[in-house]
Amino acid sequence: MSSSESAFGRMLRQLVDLGVIKLETEPLDARIERRLKQFWEQTTCPNCDHPTIQTWDSSDRVICRSCGFKPVYTYGTPFHEKHLSSGEMLLTFVLYANTLLSISQIAVLFDRAYGTVYYAIREVETAVQSGFPTVWEQFQHRIDGPTQVDESSTVCSGYKGQDPPRDSRHCGGSSRSGRSRWKGRHGDQVTLVAACRDVLRVIRGQLGIQYETDLEPVMREAEDLSQPLGEVWTDGLQAYRRMEFDHKIVVHDETYVSPEGIHINQVECLFSLVKPWLRKFRGLSKHGLEQAAHTFGIVRSLNLVGASLEILVDCLALGSFPSFE
Ligand SMILES: [Zn+2]
Repeated sequence: MSSSESAFGRMLRQLVDLGVIKLETEPLDARIERRLKQFWEQTTCPNCDHPTIQTWDSSDRVICRSCGFKPVYTYGTPFHEKHLSSGEMLLTFVLYANTLLSISQIAVLFDRAYGTVYYAIREVETAVQSGFPTVWEQFQHRIDGPTQVDESSTVCSGYKGQDPPRDSRHCGGSSRSGRSRWKGRHGDQVTLVAACRDVLRVIRGQLGIQYETDLEPVMREAEDLSQPLGEVWTDGLQAYRRMEFDHKIVVHDETYVSPEGIHINQVECLFSLVKPWLRKFRGLSKHGLEQAAHTFGIVRSLNLVGASLEILVDCLALGSFPSFE
């Protein structure tokens, strides 16, 4: 492997070689199969649109009693016809979403090619992102209080071949000392915009900084997931002053908590969590980074409500089958 592999990555590979780490995903495969079959029974046939799908514990086929369509239960989901089992795919996603293990390290753990694991994670991620709003709505959590909104300085993710410098503020194109020692090729960089409200976390990563347009998708998404939005707390940026939402401002240069108790500490905290996580995606393209950033918000929200494995599977199933909604 490359010389940039971390000591931890090497140790992990040694542990895998020693046969210390054995992943037994069969119980997880079985749980996913049960849940997907429950969804099949609630939905309409993708072939004839009748609500006549029947499933059996003993068969991996589901059958439409109207038209005889007989797909495997993974049909239409990211689990369909993959080199990884359903449980392995979900586990790669969990390790990707909630640890600092890189995709290469996860690939080693599963003894699979990087590409196999990379595309499995991307497919699960896409489905989870599209199913999340429906599942979140079904929680019926009471989301209230103010929404804190902020944007990060440019983050240094996506550097190819070498670790980025420790202080991410120093790599946005300035000629600060130390930069010349650092030979990693540049991947894409993104600016993060985030909203925090109660247990809800929304993050978007975007190339460049255009505050007015970058703010909009995050505010809309936060509103959709917790409406009505109510009060919005921001810092003193001009773009925020022009914002159409009813909002209060804390000016950072003066104080971190305004005399009225207005602050954006939750967003600052979120950025401090997401930045080290994004750094593991060296060489990832702009699109991959944007998708990863968005995933982190979903994962944080699910963590904060103490979501179960079933809820993650449900996000994925609902994201795979729009008709399940
Ligand atoms: Zn049918």
